[in-house]
Amino acid sequence: MQITFSGAAQEVTGSCHILEVGGRTVMLDCGLFQGRRAESRLKNEILPLPVDRIDAIVLSHAHIDHAGRLPFLVKSGYQGNIHATAATRDLCAIMLADSARIQVKDADFLERRGQEHAEPLYTPDDAAQVLKQMIGLPYDRWFDVVPGVRALFTDAGHILGSASVLLECTEDERTVRLAFSGDIGRKGLAIIRDPKPPQHADVVIMESTYGNRDHVPIDDARRDLGRIVRETAARGGRVIIPAFAVGRVQEIVYDLHALARAGEIPQVPIYVDSPLATSATEIFEMHPECFDRSEDLVRAVDELFHFDLVRYTRDVAESKTLNAMRGPIIIISPSGMAESGRVLHHLAHAASDQRNTILVVGFMAEHTLGRRIVEKRDTLRIFGSHVPLRAHVEILNGYSAHADRTELLEWLDAVKLTSPEATRVMLVHGEPPAQTAFSAALTAKGYHCTVPAPGDRVTL
Ligand SMILES: [Zn+2]
Ligand SMILES: [Zn+2]
Repeated sequence: MQITFSGAAQEVTGSCHILEVGGRTVMLDCGLFQGRRAESRLKNEILPLPVDRIDAIVLSHAHIDHAGRLPFLVKSGYQGNIHATAATRDLCAIMLADSARIQVKDADFLERRGQEHAEPLYTPDDAAQVLKQMIGLPYDRWFDVVPGVRALFTDAGHILGSASVLLECTEDERTVRLAFSGDIGRKGLAIIRDPKPPQHADVVIMESTYGNRDHVPIDDARRDLGRIVRETAARGGRVIIPAFAVGRVQEIVYDLHALARAGEIPQVPIYVDSPLATSATEIFEMHPECFDRSEDLVRAVDELFHFDLVRYTRDVAESKTLNAMRGPIIIISPSGMAESGRVLHHLAHAASDQRNTILVVGFMAEHTLGRRIVEKRDTLRIFGSHVPLRAHVEILNGYSAHADRTELLEWLDAVKLTSPEATRVMLVHGEPPAQTAFSAALTAKGYHCTVPAPGDRVTL
């Protein structure tokens, strides 16, 4: 029995681990490498192993850094099954199609810049083919993956449909219980349930994104959101929220719904301005089995994402009319890092007016417009022109969908076999500073912990 770490090894993207049991090969996740364009492209084009050697795939969740290379695998000839939760399969339908459109656009851009024929990594047709090979499964029920390997999804509490995977692997009458964490969410996240750790694992492959820091409490984020809306509305301004279309948009709408019901925000019209976010919201509505029944709003209303203040805009013409509206208004629009998409024209229109607020609710990577907003630069460059930044800038860190250091430790303590000494932990999906700190914390608690490098192959 062996496991090879092919992606998200000492980095956060490209999640992919290859499990070999009794002569069969199972791939865990098949994520896209993201980051510097040329470097990622090279990494994405190299298959971790020939497709005819892959017997089955198990997918933890729909985020592109976990699922985004599946269309390339299918394009390269993979014809086997892809096991995922039902909600993950439905989210993949829109997220992989969106990723394919970006791949095609990127290839066009390279070709127009005079580089020789640039073929997209994959196309919308390849993304559609992935869906045909996906099997949607419920949580908490064992299923057969290949002879010698059966698996169980438990809720990872990270995004809709996200799972941790417990794999029972049997070879030569020896059985190993291997837990793959996927991305671990936080307790108390809106809409979705809290993480449910798999039980009694000998070996754990575990994410470590925030292994070196703790987040602010989730309740503070909603309270601050209410305050920001009240203050901006009192100035007669608009709140612009750049947000990821899948997950973050729905959380913000959910919190605004709760705040409006409690009378904690004034009657301000709310626009969700994005076709992708609108489609993603419809998929959330299709999967109430994933909702957290212990939350007040989930119990109190039938429609979480529709209430009298909120509107969803699909077409561009309607989106542009928002600029002409007078008085307080809230606009939630992708992209999450304000790099592209409709949020750009909202920012270009709103940034120079000091009555307005730009509200940052997610991580903004270096070299993005979002990061320049976080740094409160004097001017922003949008669509080639310089826009003075006079609007208020507010940053809410409580909306992270990843467990922090304390929550990761709690999760692992629930997964371990009998004692820390009896459990082997391999850290993935983290940058070196987070992994080094978290590995030291685990070793101090008695765990046998390693941080595999890309390509490392470990015998179980
Ligand atoms: Zn994720
Ligand atoms: Zn991830």
